[in-house]
Amino acid sequence: MINDRTHIIVGASLAGAKAAETLRQEGFDGRIVLVGTEDVRPYERPPLSKDYLRGEVGREKVYVHDEAFYAEHDIELRLGTTAVELNTSSNDVTLDDGDRLRYDRLLLATGSEPRRLAIPGGELDGVLYLRSVQDSDTLRERLDGGGAVVVIGAGWIGAEVAASARQRRLDVTVIEPASVPLERVMGAEVGAIYRDIHTDHGVEMLMGTGVEAFEGEKAVERVRTSDGRVIECDFVVVGIGVQPRIRLAAGAGLEVDNGILVDEHLETSVPGVFAAGDVANADHPFYGERIRVEHWANALHQGPAAARNMLGQTVPFDRLPYFFSDQYEVGMEYSGFARDWDRVVFRGDPASREFVAFWISDERVVAGMNVNVWDVNDPIRRLISERVAVDDRRLADPDVPIDQLVAAQRGGVA
Ligand SMILES: Cc1cc2nc3c(=O)[nH]c(=O)nc-3n(C[C@H](O)[C@H](O)[C@H](O)COP(=O)(O)OP(=O)(O)OC[C@H]3O[C@@H](n4cnc5c(N)ncnc54)[C@H](O)[C@@H]3O)c2cc1C
Repeated sequence: MINDRTHIIVGASLAGAKAAETLRQEGFDGRIVLVGTEDVRPYERPPLSKDYLRGEVGREKVYVHDEAFYAEHDIELRLGTTAVELNTSSNDVTLDDGDRLRYDRLLLATGSEPRRLAIPGGELDGVLYLRSVQDSDTLRERLDGGGAVVVIGAGWIGAEVAASARQRRLDVTVIEPASVPLERVMGAEVGAIYRDIHTDHGVEMLMGTGVEAFEGEKAVERVRTSDGRVIECDFVVVGIGVQPRIRLAAGAGLEVDNGILVDEHLETSVPGVFAAGDVANADHPFYGERIRVEHWANALHQGPAAARNMLGQTVPFDRLPYFFSDQYEVGMEYSGFARDWDRVVFRGDPASREFVAFWISDERVVAGMNVNVWDVNDPIRRLISERVAVDDRRLADPDVPIDQLVAAQRGGVA
């Protein structure tokens, strides 16, 4: 019997592409349509602020699948096409080329987009944002031209762009209202380590100040800060966070609140409609609350999990959040999730830039970050997921393998 079911995926990036792949892997032999606004086949964004931006690798390194993959797996890839309307009563999606497609199951993997800075001069030429591969190409041309760049925001994107620009020998100034980079996620103590890494590489770190205006004749020539400084520059990169792309879902009446609300099976408030990746604000069984994760690993794993649920397998998505970042010669991985914590315990000397940091709440590790220390991520994740009661002294001692702390708890010797 021919399977005449149609599963549509809106958003042809990491989450969407991995979902399409999984549908086929799991044996779905009906029609799969993968719709994407961008006219480039699905690609990964992390290189866009790192080696791809610096021109060290080319386009072929960023794609999720090789070009032939979609035809080989009979996945209809509708690039350069935006889904403009969703009707969940008639189960159809209208595309901007006028087509209307009926679906049996629908996945929304519409991701997120940069927040814009609405200040005087915000529309001047040379005020750049970074989300797409085209944005990265535009920025790379600027880096090729050298000169001075001001980076607004010391979150992950701002910090990585600053590092790449310095590695390309530009003069770099970073402006950030918080007291240290990455303060919201890591706190003041660990954020200060990242501030020092950038300062040591010659970046001017202006912390604790905002931006009043961009000024220039036709293009941006200087940035005026809220504490009265004027910084001359050739261009600006704004990295002040992203917001989930919820337009399609909200227009269809799906429940949204900081993203599209989904249950632990990644199903939205409308049965048969799922969401995954940056756009999904998902019930997390481990945390007992909704979290929305704007990171690569989340898109990589939620796409496949959503696909399995679209096929009726009812698999909860309970992976711990994980992300990574590379800045200069400093690579890190972070696992877990911490809104607040009691203290941070270090294993190794942060000044050596080879250490592990543990965020502790109620005597349990809630997040861990390994910096230039490798092959410890799995045991760190087990510490968190098994809610191991920790002893600070043993946690800080590099001679006690992290696995041993987990084993001690399992053996009841915590
Ligand atoms: C420069 C950069 C560097 C990053 N570095 C890291 C890193 O080092 N580590 C890390 O963990 N994470 C990193 N990330 C984050 C990571 O890339 C994202 O979490 C990931 O891309 C999310 O994937 P997604 O598929 O959910 O959404 P997205 O990648 O945002 O893709 C959504 C897609 O849906 C399309 N779309 C939206 N609406 C519609 C519509 N109505 N119709 C059709 N198509 C639509 C969009 O055009 C887009 O192509 C980085 C992100 C950027 C931008």
